Amino acid sequence: MNAPTASLAGLDLRAEIDRLRKERNAVILAHYYQKPEIQDIADFVGDSLELSRKAAETDADVIAFCGVRFMAETAKILSPQKTVILPDMDAGCSLEDSCPPDKFKAFRAAHPDHIALTYINCSAEVKALSDIIVTSSSAEKILSQIPPEQKIIFGPDKHLGGYLSRKFGREMLLWPGVCIVHEAFSETELLKLKAQHPDAPVAAHPECPPHVLDHADMVGSTSAILEFAKTTPHDTVIVATEPHIIHQMEKAVPEKTFIGAPGADGNCNCNICPYMALNTMEKLYIALRDLEPKIELDEEMRLAAKKSLDRMLEMASATVGKGDLGARD
Ligand code: SF4
Repeated sequence: MNAPTASLAGLDLRAEIDRLRKERNAVILAHYYQKPEIQDIADFVGDSLELSRKAAETDADVIAFCGVRFMAETAKILSPQKTVILPDMDAGCSLEDSCPPDKFKAFRAAHPDHIALTYINCSAEVKALSDIIVTSSSAEKILSQIPPEQKIIFGPDKHLGGYLSRKFGREMLLWPGVCIVHEAFSETELLKLKAQHPDAPVAAHPECPPHVLDHADMVGSTSAILEFAKTTPHDTVIVATEPHIIHQMEKAVPEKTFIGAPGADGNCNCNICPYMALNTMEKLYIALRDLEPKIELDEEMRLAAKKSLDRMLEMASATVGKGDLGARD
């Protein structure tokens, strides 16, 4: 059993986590949506695709995954011989919840001529039922390699699917899931903010609904938004994704100003991911100390899920001819 957090009072958590990291030969991976103190202690901070790759490459014995459950499962799928721990096993995702494997399986069975292109924000079981996984940073490149006549089911994020569909002029059957964080941005409040900062571009994640994306100057994955923030000549940027990414922006370009896009009440706090927020320094320390909670996966399911993830990693690394991408804007 994990020790109650209260008994950790007085511990130097940073030093203890460092000590355990060495003792366990552990690597700490943190998603951009983690609290700043967790990002700062991680060996590697990134988005889903970067963390998937990192998980596959690391030669550590233990992966401490500071993110949500589907991300830690992805690490386990790619590195079955390693112990993968998640500081809080309740760190789920609304997109994963929207797509129960039995319903997804039935939907696939009802559309046998479609392939399933599935966003990485889903359970290992849904990955095992899919043909190709995509992340927000790899989706466009992967979609551009699928023949236009091939029918596609895209799940579980209807907004990312809708964005891709509009951008590629390509119909897809969309699973009706949403990210509760990106869904909460308010168009009205965003327009008020834009009026206050008329020169600030809006950088938005494609998990946002279309009425928010319509006002974006740039749409991209969390990593692409970070890159945009660093390289844009503008000194103020409005950021329409989970606001913890702003920590990396402020570290990279402290002279610029980053403003989180507001939710319906005008306060961007409602856009903090409640699942990501479950991870804390205390829970990370306990997970490294006890090697719990640990991700365990059925081997047959893991192998099936790995197939669709390997396909993503292959297609995301492929050299795509200019012509393949030229049809898009
Ligand atoms: S930000 Fe959205 S998509 Fe990401 S983990 Fe949280 S609920 Fe899921």
